[in-house]
Amino acid sequence: MICKLIAGNWKMNGTAAAIAEIAAMAAAARTLDHVRVAVCPPATLIDRARVAAGTGPLIVGAQDVHAEPAGAFTGSVSVAMLADAGAKLVIVGHSERRADYGETDPHVRAKAEAVLAAGLIAVVCVGETEAQRDAGATLGVIAEQLAGSMPGMAPSGSGDLAVAYEPVWAIGTGRTPTLDQVAEAHTAIRAVLVARYGEAGAATPILYGGSVKPSNAAALLHVANVDGALVGGASLTAAEFLAIVRAA
Ligand code: PEP
Repeated sequence: MICKLIAGNWKMNGTAAAIAEIAAMAAAARTLDHVRVAVCPPATLIDRARVAAGTGPLIVGAQDVHAEPAGAFTGSVSVAMLADAGAKLVIVGHSERRADYGETDPHVRAKAEAVLAAGLIAVVCVGETEAQRDAGATLGVIAEQLAGSMPGMAPSGSGDLAVAYEPVWAIGTGRTPTLDQVAEAHTAIRAVLVARYGEAGAATPILYGGSVKPSNAAALLHVANVDGALVGGASLTAAEFLAIVRAA
């Protein structure tokens, strides 16, 4: 059975004052052994988040990375830099990066491969827009994104790779797919993972993301093949985020 992973994505939110929230998440994570908990603050807070997490199980992560190890990439950070700051997980291919920064599947794949090669956990995001869902193209879009974005090397099967299914129209909108729609997408993703990676694909966590709240978390997290959640807005405070973690 896959250990559930609940990951918070703070996006461009948080300064030093918010470290108290991470400290509270870290304290709670020490009491939970059936679920992995991660938080991805802005890069500027990773080092302080690592200190707040201490030696406990809270995983500190990053929201993006550059695929290259070093060089003339103004404003970017490498996997080695993130690891040096204390990150153990990196989100790649978030729909905001794909839409706002023109990231393509090959970019996402290169990032995922850099993350895995460095021994960190890669969370690869895929998901359809509302127009694509309305056109009945959801499963095809997801399959295409996975084919282009998944790392070429096989994951270990011990949780170093996760896929996040995030319908773009559900992110930050308060809207979610029906549980049947979530099950359909996650089952399709599982089939792709197994075809691609065999047993390691069967053991790869598939997270649902998009307007997960304490009020809907239990239902979403108990859908077949939902092995966790990627949480945006509701991960900014420990109280709300931990209510979602406890629903796992
Ligand atoms: C996200 O941005 O990955 C996300 C899931 O956001 P929210 O939970 O706010 O919809």
